[in-house]
Amino acid sequence: AAMREERIQKTKTVCTYCGVGCSFDVWTKDRKVLKVEPHPQSPANGISTCVKGKFGWDYVNSEDRLQKPLIRRGDYFEEVEWDEAISYVAQRFNEIKAEKGADHLAFIGSSKATNEESYVMQKLSRQVIGTNNVDNCSRYCQAPATKGLFRTVGYGGDSGSIDDIASAKLVITIGSNTAESHPVLASRIKRSQKLFDQKLFVFDLRKHEMAKRADRFYQPKSGTDLVWLSAVTKYILDQGWENKSFLNEWVNGFDEYRESLEPFTLEYASEMTGISIDELKALAKEISSAESVAVCWAMGVTQHMRGSDTSTAISNLLLITGNYGKPGTGAYPLRGHNNVQGCSDFGSMPNFFPGYEKVDDEEVRARYEKAWGVELPKKIGMDNHEMIKAIHDGELSSMYVMGEDTGIVDANINYVTAALEKLDFFVVQDLFLTETAEYADVVLPASPSLEKEGTFTNTERRIQRLYQSFEPLEGTYPDWMIIQMIAKEMGYDWNYQHPSEIMQESASLAKLFAGVNYELLEGYKSLQWPVAEDGTDSPLLFTEGFPFEDKKAKLYPLTFELKYDTNEEYDLHVNNGRLLEHFHEGNMTYRIEGIVRKTPQAFIEVSEELSKERGIQEGAEVKLISEAGEATGIVTITDRVKGKELFLPLSGRGKTAINYLTDNRVDKDTDTPAYKEIAVKMKVLKKK
Ligand code: SF4
Repeated sequence: AAMREERIQKTKTVCTYCGVGCSFDVWTKDRKVLKVEPHPQSPANGISTCVKGKFGWDYVNSEDRLQKPLIRRGDYFEEVEWDEAISYVAQRFNEIKAEKGADHLAFIGSSKATNEESYVMQKLSRQVIGTNNVDNCSRYCQAPATKGLFRTVGYGGDSGSIDDIASAKLVITIGSNTAESHPVLASRIKRSQKLFDQKLFVFDLRKHEMAKRADRFYQPKSGTDLVWLSAVTKYILDQGWENKSFLNEWVNGFDEYRESLEPFTLEYASEMTGISIDELKALAKEISSAESVAVCWAMGVTQHMRGSDTSTAISNLLLITGNYGKPGTGAYPLRGHNNVQGCSDFGSMPNFFPGYEKVDDEEVRARYEKAWGVELPKKIGMDNHEMIKAIHDGELSSMYVMGEDTGIVDANINYVTAALEKLDFFVVQDLFLTETAEYADVVLPASPSLEKEGTFTNTERRIQRLYQSFEPLEGTYPDWMIIQMIAKEMGYDWNYQHPSEIMQESASLAKLFAGVNYELLEGYKSLQWPVAEDGTDSPLLFTEGFPFEDKKAKLYPLTFELKYDTNEEYDLHVNNGRLLEHFHEGNMTYRIEGIVRKTPQAFIEVSEELSKERGIQEGAEVKLISEAGEATGIVTITDRVKGKELFLPLSGRGKTAINYLTDNRVDKDTDTPAYKEIAVKMKVLKKK
């Protein structure tokens, strides 16, 4: 009995399922997860977790885990030893670089991998290969939010902590299905509503759980959030309700901005959004008179052609009302993946080194050149979207994708997979043989979070450690080790023994993380960036001004033009998003028995009005056709959507995958696909 007890271990880990960043103890016996036990000192979640964090771990022992590297031989894969796989990858990278140039190669980091793994991925790309063609999936989701914040307040992250959201007097969520996408954060809001009279205003196309709980719920027409935000801001100024002292002390660009608001009259906004003039006035009054306002937003804002501008409009409104730099205030783009914040923070981006320092800044580049002993590329690299186009144009020959099912999650599946087929050499590193891996020339089997050490950064810029619960599954390695093996084979012996050494190097180079080290992150301790050299971190940003030269924020003028709409032929609008039980495209959660039993497949939500108008019954099979492609699925009739709005979970697989419908339109400032702007027509295939 004593021996059996010894095999039971308890290690701290961080959940891999969303940006809330819940941490907890995992009880394991050998490779079996016995239970997940929240810890009162968990900074983001205390003793709470949601269904995914609590039960979502079976995928680690799934029979589908890859355990040997694969090399394509014609139309089948051959299992090979690691030595052979690594030397083949290195050889092909070298050949392509020599024949076509370094910019013919591209690298995709993973928002599910650790900060240290993002760091070594961009180091491989920049130092070893010599290209800035490195990006990550924040391009698919959060890049517009980051852009809007960079433009106005200078840091691309949440302004404060989850505690600030919980203590705000008024919380506004826009395009966020918080209860399903960020469950533990939603519970905090529900609690504050009940106990502290916090007000909640929800803006969404769908009447989801938080919408039903909201003090006010609005369903503005798809893609028009920028308009009501700007009109409300203008009305606040017209009434003289702005925070004058804050504006005087902390904000630049007022006159030009005020002028730019002229077109955003209440009449125009009401016509564009469908929100009445009286309601817009009431909103302006509530927002300007609230003691503290926190605005949370997600993909419902960012995945539009004007995603960056709408994020900017949110920040403009917060500046005008003085809602930055005080507890309970600020801008909160709710990061989706567990480490989507960290993956960008640590440099898997075509224009930034770690800590958002520019690749085309001489001084910054010189710092990295000195540390890495090579001359580094000056030219800004390609982002994900540009990479796919470049393959079609014959300008990109090779990609290395870590932990990303690009072939399903990027917009316009038909166009993306056609590109993947054209690659001369394609490396995929993952836990499973994903749909994307089917296109690969080499597949490298990696280890998931429970099998490795490192750090993740959650939505509140909080860096937290995860500890290894058990050894990597036989035949697999943590991503950082695999990347290190490739670098070594190509002549760069980094010789990291542990991820802490990668963090140390990163902290010595990136100002944002100057004081970060593993000791300060021991156990349940955490640090919120920026972290000064002496280890002081920053739970609440902007308390002493903004990170611009004169410490003042910038109001950013915007214009609006509705670029997208349904039309006579494509008369329905499809929205899409997460379900509580499933994570993104579902590679992990569809391998968890309990979850699959509860939510076995995706569906298409149809409104009661539309179902009556077209005689569609619950359970009917329908085909949706967009200009880019078609998807089929089973109908569920619900009051969550209204009128001609449809909803498709993004965990749909096979023929129900949403990205058969999405196309190549992107946010004009960041190339984030406009996943949420899809017009379709619907055909009933089977009545039921
Ligand atoms: Fe994991 Fe997010 Fe659920 Fe927390 S709220 S347990 S981080 S999925």
